[in-house]
Amino acid sequence: MRNKKQFILRGLDCSSCAGKIEKEVTNLFNVNSSNINFATGVLTVIYKEKAINTIQEIKKIVRKHEPHVKVEEKGKAAIEGQNTAFNKLELIRLSMGTIMFAVAVIFKLNTFFELFFFVSSYILIGGEVVLKAFRNIAKVSFFDENFLMTIATLGAFAIREFPEAVAVMLFYQIGETFQRIAVNKSRKSIKSLLDIRPDYANLKIENGTKKVDPQDVSIGDIIIIKPGEKVPLDGVVIKGESMVDTSALTGESLHRSINNGDDILSGFVNKNGLLEIEVTKTFEQSTVSKILDLVENAGSKKADIESFITKFARYYTPLVVFSALLIAVIPPIVLQGASFSDWIYRALVFLVVSCPCALVISIPLGFFGGIGGASRAGILVKGGNYLDALNDVDTVVFDKTGTLTKGTFTVTGIESYGDYDKNDILRLAAISELHSSHPIGKSILEMFKGEINESIIEDYQDISGQGIVAKIEGKTVLTGNVKLLKSFDIDNMKINNDNINENTSVYVAIDGKLEGRILISDEVKRDSKSAIQKLRTLGVKRILMLTGDNRHIGNKIGRNLGLDEVYSELLPDEKVHKLENIEKNTRGKLVFVGDGINDAPVLARADVGVSMGSLGSDAAIEASDIVLMTDEPSKLPQAIKIARRTKIIVIQNIVFALGTKGVVLLLGAFGIASMWEAVFADVGVALLAVLNSMRAMRVDKIKV
Ligand code: ADP
Ligand code: MG
Repeated sequence: MRNKKQFILRGLDCSSCAGKIEKEVTNLFNVNSSNINFATGVLTVIYKEKAINTIQEIKKIVRKHEPHVKVEEKGKAAIEGQNTAFNKLELIRLSMGTIMFAVAVIFKLNTFFELFFFVSSYILIGGEVVLKAFRNIAKVSFFDENFLMTIATLGAFAIREFPEAVAVMLFYQIGETFQRIAVNKSRKSIKSLLDIRPDYANLKIENGTKKVDPQDVSIGDIIIIKPGEKVPLDGVVIKGESMVDTSALTGESLHRSINNGDDILSGFVNKNGLLEIEVTKTFEQSTVSKILDLVENAGSKKADIESFITKFARYYTPLVVFSALLIAVIPPIVLQGASFSDWIYRALVFLVVSCPCALVISIPLGFFGGIGGASRAGILVKGGNYLDALNDVDTVVFDKTGTLTKGTFTVTGIESYGDYDKNDILRLAAISELHSSHPIGKSILEMFKGEINESIIEDYQDISGQGIVAKIEGKTVLTGNVKLLKSFDIDNMKINNDNINENTSVYVAIDGKLEGRILISDEVKRDSKSAIQKLRTLGVKRILMLTGDNRHIGNKIGRNLGLDEVYSELLPDEKVHKLENIEKNTRGKLVFVGDGINDAPVLARADVGVSMGSLGSDAAIEASDIVLMTDEPSKLPQAIKIARRTKIIVIQNIVFALGTKGVVLLLGAFGIASMWEAVFADVGVALLAVLNSMRAMRVDKIKV
């Protein structure tokens, strides 16, 4: 990503400012778009052309809206905490203000001193808010919290409600402080969920090792991983053996044994042995960076509710402020005996309640909490919209190989039809499959244990959904299914197809003549059946399977797993057509679950594409919306449960916030609620909503 830069806005806690900052950054020269993830405090800037240095301009914009926020370019520091030091000066000011306020309330002072104490305490407590409000008036969108609180409290002064004016400001400030602490705390916990970023790598140098930043390690470098350390970069083990804990990537603390020659992924934790690794990917391309990137950017794809609330907030505030104006003016004129000061007071209550902060802050936090929590369970969700979509899934379509089945085939038999013996058949097939990433190819290679010289393969062609065509030692070799034979006009009438229901046949034709067949079989994954049952209990109406494999095998697996429909012998593009047909009969969302091999177009086409991460398969991670790191189908029902819980929490917040505000507005209009209730409906509600959002992250509380 040459045209992308990310910045950390340390201490960002005003959600309406975030929107304004986004807008102004987007207007900068050469900037295409910008997005702030409020939950992580990360600003992502996409440039029109190659990224340029804009940090000074960004700093200027941020300073204008949120003077206390510090801007840093991301990636400079290995660990990115969000520590906002508690401001001592602010604390002193607030306490002094509070003392003066107490004096004014408790002691009977004469009018002059009373006013003096109230005004001084007001300035100490709320001066900053008033200042910000005035600074904002110059700008177009000045309907922010500061402005509203300023008008409300100055209004209270005007109608000689001194204690109320100061108290409202005081509680507003206290509430804000708590809210800020809560937001920062929830950010920290979400971040700690994602704390898989390695801090250093032990680079091997001539005489020993050197601790370096993982970003400074290049492909081909050798690094050492000691017991207890995180694997910082993807690589291959060249010395040593050990057990590794994969839980940071998969959510399950299964220990896996790693030996010489094995691939190893960043994010694993080395348990006991000393490992020497040759680095195969740069830090940016390594699994950990990719996962973090994916989850951190998830905030930019907003769920419908989230976008709705943002829009709603835009109308809500002006509407309430306008009603306040009407309340202050009309009743005193129209109603007999109504006093201006009484109705102005009621209008001020409106102003205090008119900020939608509780929603604007808590909803993104809720979704992000859900996404963060899911990632701890080995479920990577690429955006709030996808998590939300899981709430109304009515059809789930599975791919077969590598998704419902293990995709690790074992060769169960080899047949030869004359000119070549079984060993030759296997050898030629294995050579053909040398470059294949298909599970079938890999298993044939595994069966053939001999050495293969890459250079003897010419004119290699991988025909997806059919097999391989290659020129080997001067012979044209076809390795694949009946479709492949047909498309090369090869006669296959002689084959005896009795009793092969259990097996997938890989035909081998040489120079236009069918010469043999390799029988292989796959196993259904341990949790496939239970996953399908769980999906049904969660209310999924149709569960289907698409496969490129033959009909016998497809139907047999379909029957075993209790699927509603099975479609077999499909090429990748036919899978897309089939999916489109299926979609016509679905009302809710359509989920496709695949392994990314031969089904990337389908993954991209479905409402929600779910891929088996195969621990790092790039194609799958890229093409899909949700990645199941453990390759277990049963993670899908779990993801749906997480989605539902997140939605419940978000709805709770909406109902609670709008409900409380509505009630206080109503009571305020009738003169029953005072400014005290109003302050609670503003900051108190926001605080509680943020705390409630935090629960979204606790996915371990969900029973699967
Ligand atoms: P699925 O939909 O079950 O995941 P695919 O679409 O990946 O299956 O493949 C469909 C069929 O194409 C396989 O069952 C196999 O017969 C054939 N095939 C695909 N790739 C290869 C290959 N590399 N070698 C041999 N056969 C292959
Ligand atoms: Mg497949």
